[in-house]
Amino acid sequence: MIIYGSEVSKRFKEEMKNEVSSLNRAPSLCVILVGDNPASLSYIRGKEKACNEIGIKFTLLKADENISEENLVKMVKDVNDDESTDGLIVQMPLPKHINTNRIMEMIDPSKDVDGLNPLNIGRMVLKEECFVPCTPLGVMALIKETGVNISGKRAVVMGRSALVGIPLAHLLMKENATVTIVHSKTENIKEITSQADILVAAIGQSEFVKADYVREGAIVIDVGINRIDGKLKGDVAFDEVEAKASYITPVPKGVGPMTVTMLLENTIKAYKLKHD
Ligand code: NAP
Repeated sequence: MIIYGSEVSKRFKEEMKNEVSSLNRAPSLCVILVGDNPASLSYIRGKEKACNEIGIKFTLLKADENISEENLVKMVKDVNDDESTDGLIVQMPLPKHINTNRIMEMIDPSKDVDGLNPLNIGRMVLKEECFVPCTPLGVMALIKETGVNISGKRAVVMGRSALVGIPLAHLLMKENATVTIVHSKTENIKEITSQADILVAAIGQSEFVKADYVREGAIVIDVGINRIDGKLKGDVAFDEVEAKASYITPVPKGVGPMTVTMLLENTIKAYKLKHD
């Protein structure tokens, strides 16, 4: 069965729209963009559109490509201090002269809707209330859509990035899955992935996961986005894996739409934390 993130996302947005309309004021999201990377601009437009759809106030603050790290820190601090802003994102990637980790550390943890401040990462590991990055949250929502009980299942996460693989492994463990992470240095990847009840591919390698990587009846979630000859391809060879998986997500219309949707959820959560 194909799980369309695009459909799940529509339902979630409808629910959030109702919720937002019942709040005292509109939750607000601010995005800081350094430079004018076209891919970043396109992601930001997607975020703005989604915010508009459900009634979240969206602000874009643009900084020159050559902004100094000190001035960027000041911009972040100003948004931290602005009472009317609930969520703050500094769009990645930042120019090379800026220390990305330092900027992440400067974002007020209570506004850190991308979940990249080290305090939120630490709280996630400790299984405390925190902000978690949106893509792994979207993956968990799609796995839950299957109705399959995650507890006790063997989950294999392909990829160990701070943005996707690592937080996802923690979220799966929190739900009592037995989790293995594989990465570019793992030997015999296929032997490990073919044991998985739940297999998540987040490696950025077009159609790397073939049918023989997958256990019969597994849930297969494809996070990968690879642009090949102008077309979007996932990390999973969908056509051959579909027949083997019990549930599978497509690319596009799978995890992608869920990422923006979970950002909306995190922004509403940031608003509520302030107003509880
Ligand atoms: P990343 O930071 O480049 O990390 C890639 C991970 O995959 C690394 O841990 C790397 O291992 C591992 N890897 C690379 N080649 C491998 C191979 N041949 N076998 C096994 N592991 C391999 O990428 P990311 O940010 O996590 O993103 C992963 C993919 O998801 C990309 O295609 C990205 O575009 C996509 N993505 C999609 C969304 C969405 O909303 N759908 C959001 C974020 C990312 P090492 O650690 O050993 O280098």
